[in-house]
Amino acid sequence: MNHERSRDLYDRALSVLPGGVNSSVRATRPYPFFVERGDGGHVIDADGNRYVDYVMGYGPLLYGHDMPEPVRAAVQKYASDGPMYGAPTEIEVEHAEFVARHVPSVEMIRFVNSGTEATVSAVRLARGYTGRDKIVVMRGGYHGAQESTLVEGGPDDPRPSTAGIPGSFAEHTIPVPFNDEEAIVEVFEARGDEIAAVLVEPILGNTGIVMPVDGYHEALRELTEEHGALLIFDEVITGFRVGGLQCAQGKFGVTPDLTTFGKIIGGGFPVGAVGGKAEIVEHFTPAGDVFQSGTFSGHPVTMAAGHEYLKYAAENDVYGHVNRLGEKLRRGITEICEDQAPEYTVVGTDSMFKTIFTREAPPDLTGQCEAGCRQRSDCPRYDYCPKTGADVKNAETERWERVFWHRMKERGVFLTANQFESQFVCYAHTDEDVEETLEAYKEAL
Ligand SMILES: *Cc1c(COP(=O)(O)O)cnc(C)c1O
Repeated sequence: MNHERSRDLYDRALSVLPGGVNSSVRATRPYPFFVERGDGGHVIDADGNRYVDYVMGYGPLLYGHDMPEPVRAAVQKYASDGPMYGAPTEIEVEHAEFVARHVPSVEMIRFVNSGTEATVSAVRLARGYTGRDKIVVMRGGYHGAQESTLVEGGPDDPRPSTAGIPGSFAEHTIPVPFNDEEAIVEVFEARGDEIAAVLVEPILGNTGIVMPVDGYHEALRELTEEHGALLIFDEVITGFRVGGLQCAQGKFGVTPDLTTFGKIIGGGFPVGAVGGKAEIVEHFTPAGDVFQSGTFSGHPVTMAAGHEYLKYAAENDVYGHVNRLGEKLRRGITEICEDQAPEYTVVGTDSMFKTIFTREAPPDLTGQCEAGCRQRSDCPRYDYCPKTGADVKNAETERWERVFWHRMKERGVFLTANQFESQFVCYAHTDEDVEETLEAYKEAL
């Protein structure tokens, strides 16, 4: 494969963009390929190479790169009519009504411009509503580039995970391990009356994928209720991806107080949102006293794209298709691993998939989860499969990044470039794409 044009473009980019990119995960080594255009479930790079694309913009592109016709028509109409006003439009109301109709926790919603902005606003809302300062987050969870959640360490020694955040900000965040009920019970017993909210991805999607163990979300629901704290599900990845239109909260049967959205809810355009009980969400200004505002919030082009995206999924068997191919991929990769790398754990659900390069296998794999780890306590892998962000970080992360990812790319398959980020099936992917991908896994693993 020739990458000369991409290399030259990256050379230019390095002079004017820090690290040559506008989002850090894109700076793959030694240099990323530059995308020329998308084509259904594929991307074509600046040198004309074609890849099956499972990055899918890191989550938003449920349909791949060709917009379904109603989405395309709506985007063109709203872009040429406006594109935006600084006054309300009907399409914002329609999109909000649709989300409220389908997602169990949502009665009311505030649209913003990114997942990060959604979690920033949700944390401020929780603090304003409860009059408390502390936020509990999961180690290895990701909630965007924001001060309150870029925090590492344990409950007693939280510290910023990046330069540029004062240590005094991190003092208000309590990181705990995902899936560890005892650890969070302990935190609530000690400081329950200072905690405004628990902020959690229903499935760790940026360090994993890690599914919840049985009863974990139910325990979080009870614990927060008991102590007057809010439960916030960060469904920026899982929203309208896992569990279809009811999202992961519907799949798991646990209803949080607030939900943050992003990615798919904007139909491929910049978006975020905070939804929940009206009684809580109405604390946002101008209805309440928690300040929240945005020039581009509820942008008509984004609202139209998002709304047509979700309507199309309601009217066509979109989730049936992507979930079936997701299962076929996870099942196929599980069989390949059983032969070639029995220590690896295949993870994911619905249209999400990943292979975690875990280091140890049980002596006998009979009866293991066949299409992605389900955290079944009777699975032979149960004591070996990742349950926390730390378990994923202990995998062979360097092998993914330095060897495996490149081998897959050379075979025409574009995966997320590190061990941690999820991969996605889209509506444009076909059975042939999946079979070709499995052949590449066979050679590259
Ligand atoms: C992507 C993501 C975010 C951040 O969203 P941006 O639009 O990148 O700001 C927040 N939370 C989760 C779970 C995400 O996957």
